[in-house]
Amino acid sequence: MTNKNLPFNEARVRDIIRDHPTPFYLYDEGGIRRNARRLNAAFGWCEGFKEYFAVKATPNPYILKIAKEEGFGADCSSLAELALAERVGIVGEEIMFTSNDTPAPEYTRAKALGAIVNLDDITHLRYLEESAGGLPELICFRYNPGPLREGNAIIGTPEQAKYGLTRAQLFEAYAAARKKGSRRFGLHTMVASNELNAEFFVETARMLFDLAVELAEKLDVRLEFVNVGGGIGIPYRPEQKAIDLEALGQRVKAEYDQRIRPAGLHPLKVCMENGRCITGPYGFLVTRAIHEKHTYKEYVGVDACMANLMRPGMYGAYHHITVLGKEDAPRDTMVDVVGSLCENNDKFAIDRLLPNVQIGDILAIHDAGAHGHSMGFQYNGKLRCAELLMREDGSVQQIRRAETLDDYFATLDFSSL
Ligand SMILES: *Cc1c(COP(=O)(O)O)cnc(C)c1O
Repeated sequence: MTNKNLPFNEARVRDIIRDHPTPFYLYDEGGIRRNARRLNAAFGWCEGFKEYFAVKATPNPYILKIAKEEGFGADCSSLAELALAERVGIVGEEIMFTSNDTPAPEYTRAKALGAIVNLDDITHLRYLEESAGGLPELICFRYNPGPLREGNAIIGTPEQAKYGLTRAQLFEAYAAARKKGSRRFGLHTMVASNELNAEFFVETARMLFDLAVELAEKLDVRLEFVNVGGGIGIPYRPEQKAIDLEALGQRVKAEYDQRIRPAGLHPLKVCMENGRCITGPYGFLVTRAIHEKHTYKEYVGVDACMANLMRPGMYGAYHHITVLGKEDAPRDTMVDVVGSLCENNDKFAIDRLLPNVQIGDILAIHDAGAHGHSMGFQYNGKLRCAELLMREDGSVQQIRRAETLDDYFATLDFSSL
């Protein structure tokens, strides 16, 4: 079970709404920081442990600055994400560039920034060499274990996933990279997404540790780090349970002590690139009920829509909803909570039991702090909303303004109609 209490109450939010109209995202700085410290402490046994925060989860400079202050790097996969990281002072090997199907200018930029370049395919060795004028000294490869691992629902089975090198290619790639001048090496994989079973990550660490040993034995390649990827899930549903980070850290340590130390490969850094579990539970989409509708079903219409939070419409994902001021009221009314897109999957909840919602009520949609605002879009002329940060002292700062019609029209030229 996971407690779905909010870090704010109705009065505080009504106060915020006076300056910032709904809908908006509200992030809880204290929650993000406490969670970041927990992750670092859980892997404190590993010298050089590094979490590269997956920028795509919450690409906002204020959030990235918090991540940086907590000792995180940035996991980028596009030119814009590289630029964003650079703008907040995350540069060099504080950036892990984990891209795929990568355009040449992005490799060029990543190399110029001194980022750790994580190649998604063996052919990218040549591509990177040609686009960036040689290989960097430090190079990393993304491993796809194929039939050796199961994968999970969101990311699919590794064999069906477009990412990474096969096992045979991996060995070939390290040998080739060394021949071409690379001297420092890392190994990466990402085989799960939104996974709540800790065993999965222990297995991933074990798989990478075994590969590190094999690479040392067969190729005399000594890895500097293994990156077990992101994908730690969060309990979107109240009946789900968060991964116990401390226990996970200890179980990965046991694998490390069993495999890496006896092989003489200590120290080997362990890295991660989580997004969801870092900020997900600490962001809320705050929206107001503007309509009720009684037809074949009961509807609550809110002023946010799928363009603000796409996960329910796209994956059928569950996001818990709290009606502010009715936290303790019985959940006795079954409704669909809908947005205004001309798409019938624009529903934040289907057949959800909520307290009786009145027009004007404020709803907080939980666990929207990662892959929420960043997945927004403008279909149907819907504009992306503002992002607010609740500071540790309780004050609220706007960290991204809402889009305006001018933003929407900014790429159009009406002058030669
Ligand atoms: C999206 C992504 C992540 C972050 O995933 P989360 O589920 O947010 O932890 C990390 N690495 C890669 C390569 C990704 O594509």
